[in-house]
Amino acid sequence: MCGPAPCHNPVNCIIPPHMLRVMALRGDTSVQKMAKSMLKQNESVREERAEHTSGGMVPNAGRQGAFVTSALAFMDTRTHTCDRQIYDGDNRASLPGTPVRTEGQDPTGDPEVDRAYDGAGVVFDLCSQEFNRNSLDGNGIPLKATVHHRSKYNNAFWNGEQMAYGDGDGEIFQTFTELSVIGHEMFHGVVQFSGGLIYQGQSGALNESIADVFGTMTVQRHLDQDVYGADWLVGKGILGPNINGVALRSMKAPGTAYSDSLIGQDPQPFHMDVYVDTTSDNGGVHINSGIPNHAFYLYCMYVGGKSWEKPGQIWYRALQQINNPMATFGDWAAETLDAAIDIHGTGSWEYLMLRRAWRLVGIAV
Ligand SMILES: [Zn+2]
Repeated sequence: MCGPAPCHNPVNCIIPPHMLRVMALRGDTSVQKMAKSMLKQNESVREERAEHTSGGMVPNAGRQGAFVTSALAFMDTRTHTCDRQIYDGDNRASLPGTPVRTEGQDPTGDPEVDRAYDGAGVVFDLCSQEFNRNSLDGNGIPLKATVHHRSKYNNAFWNGEQMAYGDGDGEIFQTFTELSVIGHEMFHGVVQFSGGLIYQGQSGALNESIADVFGTMTVQRHLDQDVYGADWLVGKGILGPNINGVALRSMKAPGTAYSDSLIGQDPQPFHMDVYVDTTSDNGGVHINSGIPNHAFYLYCMYVGGKSWEKPGQIWYRALQQINNPMATFGDWAAETLDAAIDIHGTGSWEYLMLRRAWRLVGIAV
């Protein structure tokens, strides 16, 4: 059997090209074939993506899109109704596949189906109960997800309308229905419906970072962990049993999540002094996201408590207000500081600690 087919929407895939390149060099024949196939697909969409640098967002949403979303997000939480729709892709490429579990139905016994269903519910509750947001779009969009997407597919993605999860090949990856991955992919949807951040360079790395921030927050809230008890890992447990690594990314210590002959070394920086200038990975969107990721982690360490409380409220408010799809790290840091002022006041301790966190990763604001 041939390896998994390439991600047909690599814009919001969880697995970045730098991992694929090492696999293409060092893997056995089937791994090389899989990795080269995915990389080739990435190349073929590059020009298309350059033309539609929306990253799946609503074009020209800007202030209007953000305003509409915000207004809807402040509706009474009693009007929020979760509508999960889980499909079985049956190892095929077509989406969404066969419906296997809809809202309120009992577990199916298929762990992939049931984890996708439960995880979507956890993300919905985070949005509704902590941010008063009715689903990903603020307007109750159904949560569609396909599991068993393609054969031995080593990736997961949000395609602008739904989530899709491969099963992994069992060697490099063993599943993608892990809660931080589910939260990560679904929050790409929240970013999209909040006005979007173009998936290139720093704005793209912010898109990735916001997905990581809320993906880890999803896990922490589910486990009722405070910021000191959390592991701050994205994709914990999805690597195969013989891969030397703990996760895809670490917000606590970017660059340390894995080091393996088959998938390479985690390349994430944690400070602007080691920002990675590259044309691959859309300008390093999965790489330089380590910098804003680490700023969020540091801020959580300063203020303590739960990540979805003070830090999460500030990040969410900034996302609703930024109105700049091409935002740089500096623009985003300034927006979070404005949000801290809105919520806690000028010169507040929460504001001063946030400014310190940004400065510690080399972003002077
Ligand atoms: Zn992503």
